[in-house]
Parts: sequence; structure tokens; C-alpha cells
Amino acid sequence: MNSTKEISTLKSIDPYKIRSDFPILDQKINGHQLVYFDNAATMQKPNQVINKLNQYYSKFNANIHRGIHTLAEKATTAFEESRVALKEFINAPKVEEVIFTRGTTESINLVAATFGRTNIKSGDEVLITGMEHHSNIVPWQLLCEEKQAILKVAKITDVGEIDMDSFDSLLTEKTKIVAVNYASNTLGTINPVKELTKKAHDVGAIILIDGAQSAAHINIDVQDLDCDFFTISAHKMYGPTGVGILFGKSMLLEAMPPYQGGGEMIKDVTFEKTTYNDIPYKFEAGTPNIADVIGFKTAIDFVKNLGKDNIAEHEDDLLQYANHSWSQINGYQPIGTAENKVSVQSFNIEGIHHFDLGTMLDARGIAVRTGHHCTQPIMDGYGIEGTVRASFAVYNTRQEIDCMTEALERVVKIMR
Ligand code: PMP
Repeated sequence: MNSTKEISTLKSIDPYKIRSDFPILDQKINGHQLVYFDNAATMQKPNQVINKLNQYYSKFNANIHRGIHTLAEKATTAFEESRVALKEFINAPKVEEVIFTRGTTESINLVAATFGRTNIKSGDEVLITGMEHHSNIVPWQLLCEEKQAILKVAKITDVGEIDMDSFDSLLTEKTKIVAVNYASNTLGTINPVKELTKKAHDVGAIILIDGAQSAAHINIDVQDLDCDFFTISAHKMYGPTGVGILFGKSMLLEAMPPYQGGGEMIKDVTFEKTTYNDIPYKFEAGTPNIADVIGFKTAIDFVKNLGKDNIAEHEDDLLQYANHSWSQINGYQPIGTAENKVSVQSFNIEGIHHFDLGTMLDARGIAVRTGHHCTQPIMDGYGIEGTVRASFAVYNTRQEIDCMTEALERVVKIMR
């Protein structure tokens, strides 16, 4: 852990200036200035995104693709511009490889239900890791149950990294799908997804990367990673809720059956036979979440303008500073101490239940998450019920961490 002295003074990000774009942060909760440290659950939205949604609904709300009137054309153009922005954001080779979904959960379910159902047979294996979000566990369990396939789980180490010996021993010719997160929402660990992709391909498996926790913090290049599928949720990167993407290599997407039937995903419908639309529309049945897709582009612009390297530098400073401060608290037990992390810190304080800690922090206006964070197997692995989790974003400050340190010290004093 760095000492406070060793922590560099940062210049590239001014969180105080950035905060002025986030109206929600300027309020009191329970009589105290809000400190929002629940960013891994969902991030707050800047004025730019809020205004875009407002502008869409007040100026050019219309259904897309089928209309020839001016508003429909405006909405369609903005919607498709968002797809192009996403293509560039993840460096996808082709724009049609970007499919809009409700978010990471739907993207993973889409792959399990289409690629999975078509390609997995009895006795085949799906390999995940012990640090996956329930969204990257349950869809594969459903698939394996249906197909009498086998779900294998690579172990994680005490610090919260993938145990590579375990991963290697479970990855065999029988493995057809590997599904791993880029960054863990509970442990913060950044996984070596490029290396895992190569390993998966070496045995002939495809790999899906759950990018939910990486999108706002790590530069994403799906061509460099060479991954087959990649998922993002907009709300975890300053964008609206209810929208995200699935990236898939076009060769795979073209061979996959549709996910849902309805308008937009068809070319021709008769009662005898329906032919399906080209990708990406084949996977976008029905009226999509037009407003939020358009707002998603504004969130991308927001992140791009700040620069992910600058964001990561600022957030890493906060992570180091938090750990340095909290390690002075009697009974502080960090969970997830990998070398390479996004700005997420789970912890417990010996003798105090995480719910009590969360409730007492809320009374001081500090929003943290408590519980299992949709990763119950991680909790089982550490033999705990849950943790407190603080996760930082670009608008957070060291001053806010000081507030939380003071609040934690107070709780420890009262409870002991
Ligand atoms: N994977 C990870 C690593 C996550 O953190 C989350 C959200 N907490 C999800 C998947 C699911 O994302 P969503 O709820 O946006 O579909």
C-alpha cells in the first residue's frame, strides 16, 4: 500500500470542476453533504446526458428506421450515430457488430440463448471463474441445465485474482465457451482478458468478456483482445439505465439464430416463412430504447473528453488513499487486494455487521453498498456473508474519503 506521501499530486482531473456537471451530487442526505461511493452499482449522470434525454423527448422523439418524416429521420440518425460511437469506443472492426440491448445482463443472456443453444451439446463444458457476477453465472447454468452440459468454475486466489493453474486445468478441448469479467464488481480485480482469450482460442473455445465494470475505467480494444463477445452497460459509465451493448464478431453473429421475434428483426414475413434481417437488426426486435441509446453516445463523449487514462489515474489515487486511510482503522479487513484493480474496495470491520456499517454511513450522507453484490460465490469463498463496498468515480474526492474515514472511526468507537 502506498503511503500518503508517496501518492502523487494529480493535475489532469479536477473532480471539483467535474462535480458541477452532476446536479445530483449537490444535495444533503440526512443533514449531511451527499458522498456517493456506490458507483460500481450505477454511476451518476452529468448534465450533458440529462439534457440530451430532455432534448430528444422535447425536440425529436419519433420511432426509428421505418418513418420517412423529418422527426423519424432525425431520431434514426442520432440512434445510428450512437452505434458508430460505440464501435469506435471499443474499436470494433464493423459497426454492425454492435447490438443494442438492455445492458450486460441481457447481452449475456442473448449469447447463451442463441450461440449457446445452437452450439452446446450434452457433455460440452462452459468455463467461468469464481469471481463472476450472477449475470455471468446464471445464464450459463440455465444453458447447461437445458443441454446437459457442464459448468466449470476456475478458482480465485486469496487476494482475489484468477488462479491460473485452476483455469488452465479446467480449460480443455471440451470447453466450448469461456465467460469472464474484465473487472470484478466486488473485488475490483482487473483480469488478464487478452491472455485468457488466447488460451480459450487455443482449445477452440469462444470467449465472452463481461465488460460492465471496465467500460468507464479501462481502454477497450476488442480487436487487440481478439474476444468473440463483449458486453457493456451504459449506466455504469455515466449513461442512462436500461441500455447497453453486445459486441460480437460478425462471423458468429451471422451464424446465430435470432434472440427475440418481432418487428425490425425481419426482412420478410409470411405465415409460411419469415426471413430475418441482417445484423445488427436481427437481434434488435421491437422498438428499442431510443432515448437512452442516444444518451449513451453523450456519456461516451463525456468519458472520451476526460480520457480514460486520466480517469484511471484519478480513481487509482482515490483507491490508494482510501486504503491507506482505512487501514489505520482498528479491525479493517479489505477483501480484494489484487495488484491490478479498478477503483472498488470491499471490506469488513471486525465485529461489526456490514449492514450496520452501511446504515450508519447512510446516516452521515455516505452511500456505499452492503451485502453480496450479486456475487454470492465470492462471499462463500471467503467464508463471509457480505461486505461494505466503496467504489469511486471521476467526481469523487479525497475530501469525501476523509469524511468516510471519520464516519467509520466514529462507528467503531460507538460499537466497540
Ligand atoms: N457484470 C458485472 C461485473 C457487473 O458489475 C454487473 C452490474 N453490477 C453486471 C454484470 C450486470 O449489469 P447490468 O445490471 O447493467 O445488466
